[in-house]
Amino acid sequence: MAGLRQPFNASQFLNGMLAFIKNSPTPYHASQSLCALLDEQGFRRLSETEEWHLQEGDQCYVTRNGTSVIAFRFGSNSKPTHGMRLVGAHLDSPCLKLNPKANFEKHGYRIANVEVYGSSLLRTWFDRDLAIAGRIFVRNADGTIRNVLVDSKAPVAVIPSIAIHLERQANKIQEIDSQVHINPVLLNHSGDCETLPQQLLNSADGQVEVEDILGFDLRFYDSNPPNLIGSEGEKSNSIELISDCSNQYISSARIDNLLSCYAGVQALIDASDDNFCVLVASDHEEVGSVSDSGAQGRFLLQVLERIGALDPKVIRNSAMLSADGAHGLHPNYPENHNKQHRPVLNKGPVIKVNSNQRYATSDETEAVIRGLCTGMNIPVQVFVSRNDQPCGTTIGPLVASEIGIRTVDVGVAQFAMHSIRELAGCDDAVYFLKLLKAFYDSDSVSLVD
Ligand SMILES: [Zn+2]
Repeated sequence: MAGLRQPFNASQFLNGMLAFIKNSPTPYHASQSLCALLDEQGFRRLSETEEWHLQEGDQCYVTRNGTSVIAFRFGSNSKPTHGMRLVGAHLDSPCLKLNPKANFEKHGYRIANVEVYGSSLLRTWFDRDLAIAGRIFVRNADGTIRNVLVDSKAPVAVIPSIAIHLERQANKIQEIDSQVHINPVLLNHSGDCETLPQQLLNSADGQVEVEDILGFDLRFYDSNPPNLIGSEGEKSNSIELISDCSNQYISSARIDNLLSCYAGVQALIDASDDNFCVLVASDHEEVGSVSDSGAQGRFLLQVLERIGALDPKVIRNSAMLSADGAHGLHPNYPENHNKQHRPVLNKGPVIKVNSNQRYATSDETEAVIRGLCTGMNIPVQVFVSRNDQPCGTTIGPLVASEIGIRTVDVGVAQFAMHSIRELAGCDDAVYFLKLLKAFYDSDSVSLVD
């Protein structure tokens, strides 16, 4: 079993991840960033509306709706008896999304009218310098319709907290009314200024005459860029991997789940040419995955069918690693965790187990991952949620049940999942890359017929 391609530069990997997240404020941008990495490595872009002429050794990718991406590489072992190795992640994150009727006036301010996307930790959105990005459909002067990706980069709005002097109960548990309290206050609030979508378009697309804006999907995000923080301190046992990185933590928005997307694409790029490897990065996981491009839609199924991977013999010799964030033990809230299953940041990837199938891990797939970790000297942790606390989920159970592929849920431990700013460990990101690469390169992933 081969390790990471040498020389491995952890600092370059971690800084590459930061740039990837920074350039991916929305699923559209994340998809674009992912495709750019695949293009650089010679993956061929396919269109769902055309015939595909595939050959042995091909490496290709296909996108749907400008968000979800499926990339694959046929290896020299692309036989039904060897199956495929599939890594799945999601590229959407909870956020505040601009409504079609985008703004209104209130007490002399212009307010952005937003809808909450996914289960955002809303109180973390207050007092941030919010930028906005997304996709706009426009009609050109000649009548044609096209879409434009836009990103203000600079802050355009804030959601101010109420001062402690005006709300003395603010430090008690304070209810946030998601209809009233979290509409961002736009910083350009002069009465006759153009709407926000039009302003974004003007700065992104000034060259071409646009007749009309026909539709948009615009999302606020924290303009504070991702950062590597924390001094090296005590050496961890993965120090041979990160000796060129002096930081311990990744502080960023959208660690859930762009960290997994980036580690997944780098593992695919770095995987040996032997196995049939697939990467799927899905949209709409944070809202249940039910969409034409989500994991509960037909996108993956249809692509696998077209590339000949839906043969039952292939499927039963295959496995999927569902890569998504895990809850690291919060030292101030230890009682919120199941006592024996509390992963700690920078202590290794986390296998997520739930017997009610909120995670798809089975005893068999857990054994496969533990076997890989032992072989690669990767520490491994396990997460089980408390019986009295509803468990989150991932795309793992959806894909496992739809396709019949044995699946394991594994991820990197993090603090503050679904906050506007999350925190994960540098060592864990490197361990995770190493595990994903070992998974792609593994000789066998089935232990039971
Ligand atoms: Zn997630």
